[in-house]
Amino acid sequence: MAQYKCFHCSKVISSKALDKRFACPHCGSKIFYKPRKHIAKVKAI
Ligand SMILES: [Zn+2]
Repeated sequence: MAQYKCFHCSKVISSKALDKRFACPHCGSKIFYKPRKHIAKVKAI
C-alpha cells in the first residue's frame, strides 16, 4: 500500500484515501510527496 505525505501539513495519507478525492483530507492541499523510507516518526495512523 502506497503512502504519501502532505506537503502542507506533513500528515501521512494512504493512496486509498486519494482514490476518492485527490486532496489532503486534513487540510485540502493537493501537493504530496512520497516518503523514501518507512515512516518511523509517525506514531499513530
Ligand atoms: Zn494536508
